[in-house]
Amino acid sequence: MKILCVGRNYAEHAKELKNEVPTEPVIFMKPKSALLQAPTPFHYPEFTNELHHELELVLHICRNGKYIPEKQAHDYYDKITVGIDFTARDIQAELKKKGLPWEKAKAWDHSAVVGDWIDVTPAMLKQAIHFSMLKNGEMVQEGNHRDMIFSFDRIIAHVSGYFSLNIGDLIFTGTPAGVGECVTGDLLEGFLDKEKLFALSIK
Ligand code: ZN
Repeated sequence: MKILCVGRNYAEHAKELKNEVPTEPVIFMKPKSALLQAPTPFHYPEFTNELHHELELVLHICRNGKYIPEKQAHDYYDKITVGIDFTARDIQAELKKKGLPWEKAKAWDHSAVVGDWIDVTPAMLKQAIHFSMLKNGEMVQEGNHRDMIFSFDRIIAHVSGYFSLNIGDLIFTGTPAGVGECVTGDLLEGFLDKEKLFALSIK
């Protein structure tokens, strides 16, 4: 099982981190050891002083495939949730400056939090999938899958040209604007429309 992640998939977020808006998806991976199914407690990692939340829609892959055409991509995911691509922003800034890989900033244990899974329906995909997160009761991030630069289907077509997709793989589809810092004691609650899919406290 692997976790594929898309960086800079919302123009407003690319701008807030002063990155260029990409012309093809920016892809990175997290290992299985990064996965944390909420509501398991999350512990603030000791190697960072700037832990950031990135709230993202996450897809569950339900078929094996390679070189998947964009038009068939919708057959390859069956469930969706909201999750957090936790990022050690201080470490990422250093790595980016040196042009080095991001794993130490993004792929550490429990850096990929996922909420409860719900079935993807054709009706859901036709509307705007709205998602949001409260930090200590206050709205900090919200987004809508229609604002993604690269759609779910385009992401699947693109990544499957490089990596076989396997049943059980997850795809983090990128964060909208509003990423920010978390500290010990914070409570993060993720929603898909009105439904709360995770509550995570930072220990
Ligand atoms: Zn992200």
